[in-house]
Amino acid sequence: MRSKLPQVGTTIFTVMSKMAHDEGAINLSQGYPGFGADPVLLDLVAHYTKSGYNQYAPMSGIPQFRQRMAEKILRCYGAEVNPDEEVTIVSGATEAIFSAITAVVHPGDEVVVLEPAYDSYEPAIQLAGGITIHVPLDSKDFSVDWERVKHAITYKTKLIVINTPHNPSGYVWAEQDMKQLSDLVRDRNIYVVSDEVYEHITFDQRPHLSLVGHPELRKKTFVCGSFGKTFHVTGWKIGYCIAPPELTKEFRKVHQFVTFSTVTPLQFALCDYLEKPERYESIPSFYEKKRDLFLQGLQKTDLILEPTQGSFFQTARYGHLSKIEDKELAERMTKELKVACIPVSAFYHDHQDDKIIRFCFAKEDQELEEALKRLDRLN
Ligand code: PMP
Ligand code: GLN
Repeated sequence: MRSKLPQVGTTIFTVMSKMAHDEGAINLSQGYPGFGADPVLLDLVAHYTKSGYNQYAPMSGIPQFRQRMAEKILRCYGAEVNPDEEVTIVSGATEAIFSAITAVVHPGDEVVVLEPAYDSYEPAIQLAGGITIHVPLDSKDFSVDWERVKHAITYKTKLIVINTPHNPSGYVWAEQDMKQLSDLVRDRNIYVVSDEVYEHITFDQRPHLSLVGHPELRKKTFVCGSFGKTFHVTGWKIGYCIAPPELTKEFRKVHQFVTFSTVTPLQFALCDYLEKPERYESIPSFYEKKRDLFLQGLQKTDLILEPTQGSFFQTARYGHLSKIEDKELAERMTKELKVACIPVSAFYHDHQDDKIIRFCFAKEDQELEEALKRLDRLN
Protein backbone atom coordinates (compact mmCIF):
# COMPACT_ATOMS: atom_id res chain seq x y z
CA MET A 1 0.00 0.00 0.00
CA ARG A 2 1.21 3.52 -0.75
CA SER A 3 1.55 5.14 2.66
CA LYS A 4 -0.09 8.49 3.26
CA LEU A 5 2.45 9.18 6.00
CA PRO A 6 5.65 7.61 4.68
CA GLN A 7 7.98 9.47 7.06
CA VAL A 8 6.05 8.54 10.20
CA GLY A 9 7.37 5.79 12.46
CA THR A 10 6.87 5.05 16.14
CA THR A 11 6.99 8.30 18.13
CA ILE A 12 10.08 9.11 20.17
CA PHE A 13 7.88 9.18 23.29
CA THR A 14 6.91 5.53 22.82
CA VAL A 15 10.47 4.54 21.89
CA MET A 16 12.08 6.19 24.93
CA SER A 17 9.39 5.09 27.39
CA LYS A 18 9.83 1.49 26.23
CA MET A 19 13.59 1.75 26.51
CA ALA A 20 13.25 3.21 30.03
CA HIS A 21 10.98 0.32 30.97
CA ASP A 22 13.21 -2.37 29.45
CA GLU A 23 16.33 -0.89 31.09
CA GLY A 24 14.71 -0.28 34.48
CA ALA A 25 15.57 3.43 34.12
CA ILE A 26 13.85 6.41 35.73
CA ASN A 27 11.61 7.66 32.96
CA LEU A 28 11.99 11.42 32.50
CA SER A 29 11.33 11.07 28.77
CA GLN A 30 7.64 10.95 27.76
CA GLY A 31 5.73 13.77 29.45
CA TYR A 32 3.31 12.40 32.01
CA PRO A 33 2.96 12.85 35.77
CA GLY A 34 4.47 10.19 38.01
CA PHE A 35 1.86 10.84 40.70
CA GLY A 36 -1.87 10.34 40.99
CA ALA A 37 -4.75 12.76 40.52
CA ASP A 38 -6.69 14.38 43.36
CA PRO A 39 -8.83 11.67 45.06
CA VAL A 40 -11.76 14.13 44.94
CA LEU A 41 -11.66 14.03 41.15
CA LEU A 42 -11.34 10.23 41.12
CA ASP A 43 -14.31 9.91 43.49
CA LEU A 44 -16.38 12.11 41.20
CA VAL A 45 -15.64 9.80 38.26
CA ALA A 46 -16.58 6.76 40.37
CA HIS A 47 -19.76 8.51 41.43
CA TYR A 48 -20.84 9.31 37.89
CA THR A 49 -19.98 5.91 36.42
CA LYS A 50 -21.86 4.16 39.23
CA SER A 51 -24.82 6.51 38.89
CA GLY A 52 -25.40 5.49 35.30
CA TYR A 53 -23.76 8.33 33.37
CA ASN A 54 -22.31 5.92 30.86
CA GLN A 55 -24.01 6.55 27.53
CA TYR A 56 -23.08 8.92 24.71
CA ALA A 57 -22.65 12.54 25.68
CA PRO A 58 -23.95 15.23 23.32
CA MET A 59 -21.64 15.65 20.34
CA SER A 60 -20.28 19.04 21.43
CA GLY A 61 -20.02 18.17 25.15
CA ILE A 62 -22.49 18.25 28.03
CA PRO A 63 -24.06 21.75 28.31
CA GLN A 64 -23.16 22.36 31.97
CA PHE A 65 -19.51 21.49 31.30
CA ARG A 66 -19.36 23.90 28.35
CA GLN A 67 -20.98 26.53 30.56
CA ARG A 68 -18.37 25.88 33.26
CA MET A 69 -15.62 26.25 30.68
CA ALA A 70 -17.07 29.61 29.58
CA GLU A 71 -16.95 30.77 33.23
CA LYS A 72 -13.38 29.55 33.58
CA ILE A 73 -12.29 31.35 30.42
CA LEU A 74 -13.86 34.57 31.66
CA ARG A 75 -12.06 34.22 34.97
CA CYS A 76 -8.68 33.25 33.54
CA TYR A 77 -8.51 35.32 30.36
CA GLY A 78 -11.23 37.97 30.70
CA ALA A 79 -12.97 36.72 27.56
CA GLU A 80 -16.67 36.04 27.14
CA VAL A 81 -17.33 32.95 25.05
CA ASN A 82 -20.66 31.47 24.08
CA PRO A 83 -20.79 27.95 25.57
CA ASP A 84 -23.14 26.67 22.87
CA GLU A 85 -21.42 28.09 19.84
CA GLU A 86 -17.76 28.44 20.81
CA VAL A 87 -16.86 25.62 23.22
CA THR A 88 -16.44 21.98 22.18
CA ILE A 89 -15.35 19.17 24.50
CA VAL A 90 -13.06 16.72 22.69
CA SER A 91 -11.05 13.56 23.30
CA GLY A 92 -7.74 15.21 24.11
CA ALA A 93 -5.87 18.17 22.64
CA THR A 94 -4.51 15.86 19.94
CA GLU A 95 -8.06 15.46 18.65
CA ALA A 96 -8.71 19.21 18.92
CA ILE A 97 -5.57 19.97 16.88
CA PHE A 98 -6.36 17.26 14.31
CA SER A 99 -9.97 18.36 13.89
CA ALA A 100 -9.08 22.05 13.62
CA ILE A 101 -6.40 21.39 10.99
CA THR A 102 -8.72 19.06 9.06
CA ALA A 103 -11.51 21.64 9.17
CA VAL A 104 -9.54 24.48 7.57
CA VAL A 105 -6.71 23.05 5.46
CA HIS A 106 -7.43 22.28 1.80
CA PRO A 107 -5.01 20.46 -0.54
CA GLY A 108 -2.17 22.80 -1.49
CA ASP A 109 -2.66 25.19 1.43
CA GLU A 110 0.46 26.18 3.31
CA VAL A 111 0.63 25.83 7.08
CA VAL A 112 3.38 27.50 9.12
CA VAL A 113 4.79 25.38 11.94
CA LEU A 114 7.43 26.76 14.32
CA GLU A 115 10.20 24.26 15.04
CA PRO A 116 11.01 22.47 17.30
CA ALA A 117 7.37 21.36 17.19
CA TYR A 118 5.16 18.77 18.84
CA ASP A 119 4.92 15.72 16.61
CA SER A 120 1.18 15.59 15.93
CA TYR A 121 0.91 18.79 13.85
CA GLU A 122 2.63 17.78 10.66
CA PRO A 123 0.88 14.42 10.04
CA ALA A 124 -2.50 16.16 10.41
CA ILE A 125 -1.47 18.83 7.88
CA GLN A 126 -0.20 16.16 5.51
CA LEU A 127 -3.39 14.08 5.72
CA ALA A 128 -5.38 17.21 4.84
CA GLY A 129 -3.19 17.68 1.75
CA GLY A 130 -1.51 20.77 3.19
CA ILE A 131 2.12 21.77 2.85
CA THR A 132 4.04 22.38 6.07
CA ILE A 133 6.32 25.40 6.04
CA HIS A 134 8.85 24.94 8.84
CA VAL A 135 10.09 28.08 10.53
CA PRO A 136 12.85 27.68 13.13
CA LEU A 137 12.49 29.33 16.53
CA ASP A 138 15.43 31.37 17.78
CA SER A 139 18.27 28.92 18.38
CA LYS A 140 19.31 30.54 21.68
CA ASP A 141 16.12 30.84 23.71
CA PHE A 142 13.39 29.36 21.45
CA SER A 143 11.60 32.69 21.19
CA VAL A 144 9.70 33.32 17.96
CA ASP A 145 11.80 34.90 15.21
CA TRP A 146 9.07 37.10 13.75
CA GLU A 147 11.11 38.21 10.76
CA ARG A 148 11.41 34.59 9.73
CA VAL A 149 7.70 34.00 10.24
CA LYS A 150 6.90 37.06 8.08
CA HIS A 151 9.12 35.74 5.30
CA ALA A 152 7.36 32.37 5.39
CA ILE A 153 3.91 33.89 4.72
CA THR A 154 2.65 33.67 1.12
CA TYR A 155 -0.73 34.04 -0.57
CA LYS A 156 -1.13 30.29 0.00
CA THR A 157 -0.75 30.47 3.81
CA LYS A 158 -3.95 29.21 5.40
CA LEU A 159 -2.92 28.49 8.98
CA ILE A 160 -0.24 29.07 11.61
CA VAL A 161 0.18 26.54 14.41
CA ILE A 162 1.56 27.97 17.63
CA ASN A 163 2.26 26.45 21.04
CA THR A 164 2.58 28.34 24.33
CA PRO A 165 3.89 27.29 26.87
CA HIS A 166 6.09 25.50 24.38
CA ASN A 167 6.97 21.82 24.27
CA PRO A 168 9.91 21.04 24.39
CA SER A 169 11.56 24.37 25.32
CA GLY A 170 9.13 25.78 27.91
CA TYR A 171 9.18 29.19 26.20
CA VAL A 172 6.09 31.21 27.19
CA TRP A 173 4.71 33.85 24.84
CA ALA A 174 5.10 37.51 25.84
CA GLU A 175 2.78 40.41 24.95
CA GLN A 176 5.01 41.32 22.04
CA ASP A 177 4.52 37.84 20.51
CA MET A 178 0.76 38.40 20.60
CA LYS A 179 1.16 41.78 18.96
CA GLN A 180 3.43 40.42 16.25
CA LEU A 181 1.01 37.61 15.45
CA SER A 182 -2.04 39.87 15.38
CA ASP A 183 -0.23 42.36 13.09
CA LEU A 184 0.76 39.49 10.84
CA VAL A 185 -2.68 37.92 10.36
CA ARG A 186 -4.65 41.20 10.32
CA ASP A 187 -6.36 41.67 6.94
CA ARG A 188 -5.22 38.23 5.83
CA ASN A 189 -7.25 35.03 5.54
CA ILE A 190 -5.00 33.15 7.91
CA TYR A 191 -6.28 31.06 10.81
CA VAL A 192 -4.41 30.06 13.96
CA VAL A 193 -4.31 26.79 15.90
CA SER A 194 -3.07 27.66 19.38
CA ASP A 195 -1.88 24.64 21.35
CA GLU A 196 -2.20 25.73 24.98
CA VAL A 197 -2.12 22.37 26.75
CA TYR A 198 0.30 23.72 29.41
CA GLU A 199 -1.86 26.82 30.08
CA HIS A 200 -1.77 26.23 33.84
CA ILE A 201 1.93 25.45 34.10
CA THR A 202 3.88 28.74 33.99
CA PHE A 203 6.55 29.94 36.40
CA ASP A 204 8.05 33.00 38.08
CA GLN A 205 4.71 34.86 38.05
CA ARG A 206 4.68 34.75 34.25
CA PRO A 207 1.07 34.76 33.05
CA HIS A 208 -0.12 32.45 30.31
CA LEU A 209 -1.48 34.64 27.51
CA SER A 210 -4.27 32.72 25.86
CA LEU A 211 -5.20 33.74 22.33
CA VAL A 212 -8.86 33.65 23.41
CA GLY A 213 -8.03 36.66 25.61
CA HIS A 214 -6.87 38.69 22.60
CA PRO A 215 -9.85 40.48 21.01
CA GLU A 216 -8.50 40.34 17.46
CA LEU A 217 -6.72 37.01 17.45
CA ARG A 218 -9.59 35.09 19.00
CA LYS A 219 -11.67 35.79 15.88
CA LYS A 220 -9.32 33.56 13.84
CA THR A 221 -8.13 31.05 16.39
CA PHE A 222 -8.84 27.51 17.55
CA VAL A 223 -7.57 27.39 21.15
CA CYS A 224 -6.79 23.75 22.01
CA GLY A 225 -6.46 22.65 25.65
CA SER A 226 -6.14 19.46 27.69
CA PHE A 227 -7.36 18.51 31.15
CA GLY A 228 -4.80 15.69 31.15
CA LYS A 229 -1.93 18.10 31.78
CA THR A 230 -3.69 20.32 34.30
CA PHE A 231 -5.11 17.60 36.54
CA HIS A 232 -2.44 14.86 36.20
CA VAL A 233 -4.65 12.55 34.14
CA THR A 234 -2.95 12.32 30.72
CA GLY A 235 -4.51 8.88 30.16
CA TRP A 236 -8.02 10.30 30.17
CA LYS A 237 -7.55 12.05 26.82
CA ILE A 238 -10.07 14.80 27.38
CA GLY A 239 -9.68 18.38 26.24
CA TYR A 240 -11.45 21.28 24.59
CA CYS A 241 -11.48 23.60 21.62
CA ILE A 242 -12.55 27.25 21.82
CA ALA A 243 -13.21 28.95 18.49
CA PRO A 244 -15.61 31.57 17.10
CA PRO A 245 -19.03 30.27 15.98
CA GLU A 246 -18.29 29.97 12.27
CA LEU A 247 -15.04 28.09 12.97
CA THR A 248 -16.65 25.94 15.67
CA LYS A 249 -19.34 24.95 13.18
CA GLU A 250 -16.73 23.55 10.79
CA PHE A 251 -14.68 22.11 13.66
CA ARG A 252 -17.68 20.14 14.92
CA LYS A 253 -18.31 18.66 11.49
CA VAL A 254 -14.94 16.94 11.79
CA HIS A 255 -15.14 16.16 15.50
CA GLN A 256 -18.51 14.53 14.86
CA PHE A 257 -16.88 11.91 12.66
CA VAL A 258 -13.56 11.49 14.45
CA THR A 259 -15.04 10.52 17.82
CA PHE A 260 -18.60 11.90 17.79
CA SER A 261 -18.42 12.67 21.52
CA THR A 262 -16.18 12.39 24.58
CA VAL A 263 -16.34 10.09 27.64
CA THR A 264 -19.50 11.04 29.55
CA PRO A 265 -18.60 10.42 33.23
CA LEU A 266 -15.32 12.30 32.82
CA GLN A 267 -17.20 15.34 31.56
CA PHE A 268 -19.57 15.35 34.53
CA ALA A 269 -16.70 14.81 36.98
CA LEU A 270 -14.49 17.56 35.53
CA CYS A 271 -17.46 19.92 35.40
CA ASP A 272 -17.99 19.54 39.16
CA TYR A 273 -14.28 19.62 39.89
CA LEU A 274 -13.80 22.92 38.05
CA GLU A 275 -16.25 24.56 40.43
CA LYS A 276 -13.28 25.50 42.64
CA PRO A 277 -10.75 27.64 40.73
CA GLU A 278 -8.01 26.94 43.31
CA ARG A 279 -7.84 23.45 41.81
CA TYR A 280 -6.13 24.84 38.74
CA GLU A 281 -4.79 28.03 40.28
CA SER A 282 -2.58 25.99 42.63
CA ILE A 283 -0.87 24.16 39.74
CA PRO A 284 1.86 26.75 38.91
CA SER A 285 3.30 26.78 42.45
CA PHE A 286 3.05 22.99 42.67
CA TYR A 287 5.15 22.58 39.53
CA GLU A 288 7.44 25.53 40.24
CA LYS A 289 8.76 23.70 43.33
CA LYS A 290 9.52 20.68 41.16
CA ARG A 291 11.12 22.84 38.49
CA ASP A 292 13.36 24.45 41.13
CA LEU A 293 14.31 21.16 42.79
CA PHE A 294 15.23 19.58 39.47
CA LEU A 295 16.97 22.66 38.08
CA GLN A 296 19.08 23.21 41.20
CA GLY A 297 20.21 19.59 41.11
CA LEU A 298 20.96 19.69 37.41
CA GLN A 299 22.94 22.92 37.85
CA LYS A 300 25.55 20.84 39.67
CA THR A 301 26.37 19.15 36.37
CA ASP A 302 28.16 20.86 33.48
CA LEU A 303 25.01 20.96 31.35
CA ILE A 304 23.93 24.42 30.14
CA LEU A 305 20.48 25.26 31.49
CA GLU A 306 17.96 28.07 31.29
CA PRO A 307 15.17 27.86 33.88
CA THR A 308 12.11 26.65 32.01
CA GLN A 309 9.36 29.33 31.84
CA GLY A 310 6.44 26.93 31.54
CA SER A 311 5.36 23.30 30.84
CA PHE A 312 6.79 20.41 32.87
CA PHE A 313 9.91 20.08 30.78
CA GLN A 314 13.48 21.24 31.33
CA THR A 315 15.88 21.29 28.40
CA ALA A 316 19.66 21.03 28.74
CA ARG A 317 22.47 21.74 26.24
CA TYR A 318 25.54 19.53 26.18
CA GLY A 319 27.28 20.47 22.89
CA HIS A 320 30.24 22.04 24.74
CA LEU A 321 30.88 18.70 26.49
CA SER A 322 30.44 16.18 23.69
CA LYS A 323 29.71 15.93 19.99
CA ILE A 324 27.69 12.73 20.38
CA GLU A 325 24.28 12.81 18.63
CA ASP A 326 21.42 13.65 20.98
CA LYS A 327 19.61 10.39 20.15
CA GLU A 328 22.68 8.38 21.04
CA LEU A 329 23.20 10.35 24.24
CA ALA A 330 19.58 9.74 25.29
CA GLU A 331 20.02 6.03 24.62
CA ARG A 332 23.29 5.85 26.55
CA MET A 333 21.89 7.80 29.47
CA THR A 334 18.96 5.38 29.64
CA LYS A 335 21.17 2.30 29.47
CA GLU A 336 24.18 3.46 31.49
CA LEU A 337 22.93 6.11 33.93
CA LYS A 338 19.40 4.63 34.08
CA VAL A 339 17.71 7.96 33.46
CA ALA A 340 15.69 8.40 30.25
CA CYS A 341 15.18 11.72 28.46
CA ILE A 342 14.06 12.89 25.00
CA PRO A 343 16.48 13.99 22.25
CA VAL A 344 15.17 17.34 21.00
CA SER A 345 16.14 16.53 17.38
CA ALA A 346 12.93 14.45 17.33
CA PHE A 347 10.96 17.73 17.27
CA TYR A 348 12.48 18.79 13.92
CA HIS A 349 11.27 17.46 10.55
CA ASP A 350 14.90 17.08 9.43
CA HIS A 351 16.17 15.88 12.84
CA GLN A 352 18.30 18.97 13.32
CA ASP A 353 20.63 18.14 16.19
CA ASP A 354 21.52 21.13 18.37
CA LYS A 355 22.78 18.85 21.15
CA ILE A 356 19.82 19.41 23.46
CA ILE A 357 17.98 16.89 25.63
CA ARG A 358 14.62 17.29 27.39
CA PHE A 359 13.68 16.05 30.84
CA CYS A 360 10.14 15.77 32.27
CA PHE A 361 10.08 16.85 35.94
CA ALA A 362 6.43 15.94 36.61
CA LYS A 363 7.56 13.26 39.06
CA GLU A 364 7.55 12.67 42.81
CA ASP A 365 10.36 14.62 44.52
CA GLN A 366 11.99 11.38 45.63
CA GLU A 367 12.17 10.13 42.06
CA LEU A 368 13.61 13.45 40.88
CA GLU A 369 16.23 13.33 43.65
CA GLU A 370 17.23 9.79 42.69
CA ALA A 371 17.45 10.83 39.02
CA LEU A 372 19.66 13.78 39.98
CA LYS A 373 21.97 11.49 41.94
CA ARG A 374 22.39 9.33 38.85
CA LEU A 375 22.84 12.34 36.56
CA ASP A 376 25.63 13.60 38.78
CA ARG A 377 27.79 11.04 36.99
CA LEU A 378 27.45 13.17 33.83
CA ASN A 379 30.35 15.29 35.10
N1 PMP B 1 0.30 19.37 22.47
C1 PMP B 1 1.42 19.33 23.21
C2 PMP B 1 2.43 20.40 23.07
C3 PMP B 1 1.63 18.27 24.11
O1 PMP B 1 2.75 18.21 24.81
C4 PMP B 1 0.64 17.28 24.23
C5 PMP B 1 0.84 16.18 25.22
N2 PMP B 1 0.92 14.95 24.73
C6 PMP B 1 -0.51 17.37 23.43
C7 PMP B 1 -0.65 18.43 22.57
C8 PMP B 1 -1.61 16.35 23.45
O2 PMP B 1 -2.49 16.48 24.51
P1 PMP B 1 -3.60 15.34 24.81
O3 PMP B 1 -2.92 14.26 25.57
O4 PMP B 1 -4.67 16.03 25.58
O5 PMP B 1 -4.09 14.86 23.48
N1 GLN C 1 3.22 15.29 25.13
C1 GLN C 1 4.05 14.22 25.63
C2 GLN C 1 5.49 14.65 25.54
O1 GLN C 1 5.82 15.61 24.91
C3 GLN C 1 3.90 12.91 24.91
C4 GLN C 1 2.54 12.45 24.60
C5 GLN C 1 2.61 11.23 23.70
O2 GLN C 1 3.30 10.29 23.98
N2 GLN C 1 1.94 11.31 22.60
O3 GLN C 1 6.31 13.98 26.09
